[in-house]
Amino acid sequence: AAHDLRSPLGVIQMYSQFLETELGPAVSEEHRQFIVTIRHTSEALLRLVDNLLDVSQIEAGKLELHRQSLDLRVLVEQSLALNRVLATKTHRQLALVAPELTPFLLDADGPKLEQVLNNLIGNALKFSPPGTHVEVRLGREGDRALVSVRDQGPGIPAQEVGKLFRFFQKTSVRSVGGERSSGLGLAIARKIVEGHGGTIWVETEPGRGSTFSFALPLTSP
Ligand code: ADP
Repeated sequence: AAHDLRSPLGVIQMYSQFLETELGPAVSEEHRQFIVTIRHTSEALLRLVDNLLDVSQIEAGKLELHRQSLDLRVLVEQSLALNRVLATKTHRQLALVAPELTPFLLDADGPKLEQVLNNLIGNALKFSPPGTHVEVRLGREGDRALVSVRDQGPGIPAQEVGKLFRFFQKTSVRSVGGERSSGLGLAIARKIVEGHGGTIWVETEPGRGSTFSFALPLTSP
């Protein structure tokens, strides 16, 4: 069913995007906003359908990883570039802290790791108020690469931290823009990271922001 939902949703998303860019001055601002809303809603639905497809794959024990040699730094930089557009639009600062020119070679599934990065960075942006900073750090700890995403958002109450990384679990913390949460992104991220032999965790304190991190084994030289 999720597969069947994907293509009509893709059509709605594509044509609303087309209308948004092609409409001339004859269209009122109010009607333009309707089209923007259709595009945003169809994109959110597509993300949900993709997440549900991931969940069914994981539950069937069929999370397929197409591993190849890659540089985690490149993936992190790509994800930052993608999210920087959103950050600028919504008035958050997004910065990378990483050692100069060092590659972080992994034997990993690139698109799946991008999904993890986009989820963590996207959440950090979604849950932090405008004017705050989100810092992405890339480093090394022994034979593992370490990525952390730190925000200055509300943090998560201690009694709810156990809900994170579990399917369909949400906390009482709401995103600044009021987007709906399905509670799937972090659970999928955990499965992807663990599928690569890595670990994912959070350090958070109400009122003091959250840092979501993951570590992955580096390719041995
Ligand atoms: P979704 O895929 O719907 O975005 P996630 O699994 O990514 O859901 O996140 C689950 C819940 O964890 C969110 O609804 C939110 O309550 C909490 N959460 C995730 N990231 C953060 C963050 N950076 N700051 C505060 N709360 C967060």
